[in-house]
Amino acid sequence: MKVRSTRDINVEMELTDAIVQGLASDGGLFLPHCWGEGLDNLKADNFQEYCEKALAPFFKGDELEGELSSIIKSALNFPISLNFFEKDHALLELYHGPTAAFKDFGARFLAEILSKKALEKELTILVATSGDTGGAVASAFYKKPGIKVAILYPKGAVSPLQEKQLTCWGENIMSFRVEGSFDDCQKMVKEAFSNDALCEKYNLTSANSINIGRLLPQMAYHGYSSQLFFEKTGLKANLVIPTGNLGNGFGALWAKKMGAPINKVVLATNENQTIPNYYKTGSYLALSSVTTLANAMDVGDPSNIERLFDLYPSFEELKKDSLSISISDREIKEEIEEVFKKYSSPICPHTAVGMRAAKTLLEDGPYIVSSTAHASKFKEIVEPAIGSKIMLPPKLLELFEKEGVVFDIGTSLEALFQEF
Ligand SMILES: *Cc1c(COP(=O)(O)O)cnc(C)c1O
Repeated sequence: MKVRSTRDINVEMELTDAIVQGLASDGGLFLPHCWGEGLDNLKADNFQEYCEKALAPFFKGDELEGELSSIIKSALNFPISLNFFEKDHALLELYHGPTAAFKDFGARFLAEILSKKALEKELTILVATSGDTGGAVASAFYKKPGIKVAILYPKGAVSPLQEKQLTCWGENIMSFRVEGSFDDCQKMVKEAFSNDALCEKYNLTSANSINIGRLLPQMAYHGYSSQLFFEKTGLKANLVIPTGNLGNGFGALWAKKMGAPINKVVLATNENQTIPNYYKTGSYLALSSVTTLANAMDVGDPSNIERLFDLYPSFEELKKDSLSISISDREIKEEIEEVFKKYSSPICPHTAVGMRAAKTLLEDGPYIVSSTAHASKFKEIVEPAIGSKIMLPPKLLELFEKEGVVFDIGTSLEALFQEF
């Protein structure tokens, strides 16, 4: 199937080509011409099978159509579980992948697709990260033949565990510590992409969250979890999604559009109010981001917002299908503590945003909260709130045995490409 730009439906490409390119040539984001259907009662024995059925229409006629099944089997080879903690309240655990955050789904799916393309020509992935994305991308592309990855992150602005996840690789993964902010990192990446000579010489490709290849599996797991919930309870769940750049949240709304048994989608943000403000006023105003305890969602101008406007041209329709709420740092801490007291399970600060939003807006209604990361990734915040230690999962412990390699650079592109 061809996909098109959010800005001009005549700017179109085959899906795989769009995944390789990242951004549409007019600066818009890629979306399918039609949203698809058939998730209203899609039966499958497991997530891989569900995913294959849900994504097949989008790969129809694509050069990778025949390989979709093997792509899914290699990329999404870790558990996903729907954990009922009350009769009709469940947590969708999205953190059982190699880097213990939901970003593994998108990054690994993308890596399988790009590595097929790298058989034709070598690719270089350039990615700026403020934390989780870079680690998931590094892990997903590690030792993929024909692909080199350069990760840029701001010095002193990522947690010790995150830094380990960015620098522990070697082989085809290079990490660059930039003397500047996350915005500086993003500026460098944009500068490289607007330099035709560099793009041509290195076949530069992006792996950031606007890539449609990252959204597809995220749409599928929201459909899958709502179907499981429906089969077990007979109810359409409300889906509560901790949100920053609206990647995961958009996936939920897309699954609903395709007919999955979803009641409302709740977009839960931290103290960054851009999305809740939009729901209140109907007019969109980007804000500067503020720092919070749920730092992977510290976003003031969500990169997927154009996709939300595209999916819902009518503000009234958007409000019929979804809600949004902002949760404060104080509420995050309280929620981590309360959940631990009640269920003896530590949750990460992002998941806490979702849990508190669910309680505030839905009371006793049926709901699924997306649990986006393992609590131990944010143990500096979680341990004091629950008053006890949490163990790192074995996959993360292994990271600490690897030697890290990192290049310290200023903010100039020359220093970066000197290392290639
Ligand atoms: C990236 C991230 C989010 C936010 O996801 P978006 O798709 O940007 O909305 C939430 N929680 C965790 C742990 C993340 O890494």
